[in-house]
Amino acid sequence: MIEVKGLTKKYGDHYAINHIDFKVERGHIYGFLGPNGAGKSTTMNIITGCLAATEGTVTIDGHDIYDEPIEAKRGIGYLPEIPPLYVEMTPYEYLDFVARAKGVDKGLIDEKIELVMRETGITDMQDRLIKNLSKGYRQRVGIAQAMLGDPEVIILDEPTVGLDPKQIIEIRDLIKRLGAEHTVILSSHILSEISAVCDYVIIIARGRVVAQDSLENLARHYTSSATVKVEIKGAEGMVRMAVDTVKDSILGYDLGANKDEPQYLQLDISVPRDTDIREALSKALVENGCTILSMTTESLSLEDVFLELTKDVDEDESASIAATAGNISDEEASADSLAGDIKAAEEETEEEVEDIEDIVFDAADLSGVSAAENSAEAQDEPQDEPHDESDAEGGYDAVDEAKLEAAEAAEKAKALAEADAKMKKSEQKKSNKKNDGEYHSLFSIGGDDK
Ligand code: ADP
Ligand code: MG
Repeated sequence: MIEVKGLTKKYGDHYAINHIDFKVERGHIYGFLGPNGAGKSTTMNIITGCLAATEGTVTIDGHDIYDEPIEAKRGIGYLPEIPPLYVEMTPYEYLDFVARAKGVDKGLIDEKIELVMRETGITDMQDRLIKNLSKGYRQRVGIAQAMLGDPEVIILDEPTVGLDPKQIIEIRDLIKRLGAEHTVILSSHILSEISAVCDYVIIIARGRVVAQDSLENLARHYTSSATVKVEIKGAEGMVRMAVDTVKDSILGYDLGANKDEPQYLQLDISVPRDTDIREALSKALVENGCTILSMTTESLSLEDVFLELTKDVDEDESASIAATAGNISDEEASADSLAGDIKAAEEETEEEVEDIEDIVFDAADLSGVSAAENSAEAQDEPQDEPHDESDAEGGYDAVDEAKLEAAEAAEKAKALAEADAKMKKSEQKKSNKKNDGEYHSLFSIGGDDK
């Protein structure tokens, strides 16, 4: 389905990702798991044809993302880390815009929009302005957008970041439902999120894939042993003799002074998970004249495994690993990293962004929709549930609104068609040159206008 080989992206001397390989097969929900800055978004942007790689290849159903971008992109729906929502539009208008840009058959547009709105549970919100929707609902609009065009694979970059716990559960359920009909790739820096939704996991750290397997196999492989920890009062030689009596059942052991109380000994014995040596060990220790002060068994959790695999000496990175474990505020760390990423991306892509903005602003000017506000701004808004219609319209004269709307409707249709045509043209231009560091338009797959 998707095959990624030797994928590399360099910014100056820095590897955002470094020779990444993996395969995605039909019908699974894949978790792309890694701490902030690991390279998740970079990989996803390249797979979806939004960003050019420095090296390596991506093929989707046999189509190379650079050589045959139209065919390749047709199979993929993408919700980027920052959803590209035009907040002055209603979900219906926005989805209509996206459907046209993706080249959905004109006669089917209404039907397809109804379908994705139903599947993402936004039908009741279709006529509210996106800016008046809660973040959870906006994220659903973003997922609906990714589903348009009937892609086989849906790629979602950290879709639950910034949502409240109830919204997180709702979006997770939605993703699980998506998984019944689609292949889904979902990125996250939180293991519990991946283990709740995915059946297969690709762990990425410092731009490299450090593990990939089914969750079951990972758990079995990495958590197959446990450690029996014993605090002992006694002579070292006697302890070694005691351990000798259980040596056939253990994988190995460590003996030294206890860290907190150096007058006592600390014995750590590694055993296969299903082996219990405690009774035999305590008898042997007592027989050798030792006193057991404490005995506990510790086994690695999948969380420990994730931390171990993604561990780094770099302080910045360990901070984000700690964030992953929930030791410090997840939100802060990801906001920091996001801010840095946005800044870097802005510099890198100023020109392309201006191009795209021009198009959107042109369309907005013509249609009377005030230009697409960027979603960073949108995120500062209160994130409560959608307001009542009366709330949303508060302060407007309903009659004037209606008149304006009628006059604008015709203009808007024209503008959308023009924006659509322009985006297609610019997409065509861009996909013709494989320019390092270039960002491509998200929506337009350059499909035929039917
Ligand atoms: P993740 O999504 O896993 O948090 P990213 O893919 O956003 O990670 O980033 C991977 C690394 O590449 C980070 O170190 C990030 O700072 C760097 N990076 C990402 N985009 C750019 C850019 N446009 N310019 C320079 N460095 C970048
Ligand atoms: Mg990211």
